[in-house]
Amino acid sequence: MSDKNTDKRHIAILGSTGSIGTQALEVLEANPDVFVLEVLTANSSADLLIEQALKFKPNCVVIGDESQFKKVQDALFDEGIKVYAGADSLAQVVQMEDIDIVLTALVGYAGLRPTLAAIEAGKHIALANKETLVVAGEIVTDLAQKKGVNIYPVDSEHSAIFQCLVGEFHNPIEKIYLTASGGPFRGQKREQLAAVTKAQALKHPNWDMGAKITIDSASMMNKGLEVIEAKWLFGLKNEQIDVIVHPQSIIHSIVQFEDGSMKAQMGLPDMKLPIQFALGYPNRLKSDFPRFNFLNYPQLTFEQADTETFRNLALAFEALHQGGNQPCILNAANEIAVDAFLKDRIGFLEMSDIIEQSMQRVSFIKKPNYDDYVATDAETRIVASQLIMNYE
Ligand code: NDP
Ligand code: MG
Repeated sequence: MSDKNTDKRHIAILGSTGSIGTQALEVLEANPDVFVLEVLTANSSADLLIEQALKFKPNCVVIGDESQFKKVQDALFDEGIKVYAGADSLAQVVQMEDIDIVLTALVGYAGLRPTLAAIEAGKHIALANKETLVVAGEIVTDLAQKKGVNIYPVDSEHSAIFQCLVGEFHNPIEKIYLTASGGPFRGQKREQLAAVTKAQALKHPNWDMGAKITIDSASMMNKGLEVIEAKWLFGLKNEQIDVIVHPQSIIHSIVQFEDGSMKAQMGLPDMKLPIQFALGYPNRLKSDFPRFNFLNYPQLTFEQADTETFRNLALAFEALHQGGNQPCILNAANEIAVDAFLKDRIGFLEMSDIIEQSMQRVSFIKKPNYDDYVATDAETRIVASQLIMNYE
């Protein structure tokens, strides 16, 4: 997966204007001898996309919002950077011959199609977009296996598991523990959560992330999605995955092997490290990221997750156990519910009501194919949107 002439890795970043995307660009900027940037993409942040393209000079860019195509093209014309627009283009550019690794840092279900297209073309995936594995984990991982493509996790917990497994791939996993910070509302009960505002939910104690994942972290849906993501990334049985709340976010996750030994990966919470590990694997690239100091953290603590208060986590486990298209329903209903919460259309706790009712109403398919997932996603969005109207 390296360029014959330069030995550099050629990278496409889908969602370069987001939280993961901009941090990935910092990693690339700090390692010009290791990486070459081929593609940048955004949904509607045209100005930032232009600024990034002028600075990093990729081969091409894609803007999702077609109405901004001309603006981006005019700005990049003199540089000879190719400009495309729309979702179809996104699925096409990832197949460009020069690309070695596609970093999927776009948010939500929109990541599924370009990820499958990239795998189909034999590109390795650095996967931040967990929703892709939640929606269609079996299809994605089966195709990756068939095409000999590696999926390197970017999510910090899954990167931690992966880092613990290096050198241990021949040893079966007994169990994994995904750590969870507990988010801004850890320790609160349902009565308190009923009145929380969007501004409170958007303040995460340890991580600075995009809006959707920040709300998912506050509701603990993020951990639920990560449980399903872990099942597919590491080929685990449902009962091998556990969640433990660890408010300091220093231990990023833990693997327990069959001899009872546990390995954990730790460090300060900083997404640049897992991004860099995924793009640079198997090498650990030298970095100047801030180092952990034990004396600043005299206590690392652990608690059980409260699934009665944070029902989204219980719903995600239910979807995991039911399997089929149920995780796809969970994901679509959650995307609609989070969007409605961010627009002040529903309250914090009502997000779980919408998801639970959507899971009951949308038809269950035991062995879905790709078209079934597309149809399930579309149907769930309609059902969830109708349910939301009842709350207004
Ligand atoms: P952001 O919202 O910050 O960024 C999302 C990026 O995707 C932006 O570039 C956005 O473009 C683009 N985008 C959004 N919607 C679409 C669409 N429909 N089609 C094409 N592009 C789109 O998200 P994050 O960076 O926080 O998260 C990205 C992914 O990584 C998520 O799946 C998240 O769960 C995962 N992740 C994030 C972590 C973090 O620390 N942020 C940690 C672990 C996982 P535009 O700017 O134009 O809207
Ligand atoms: Mg995570």
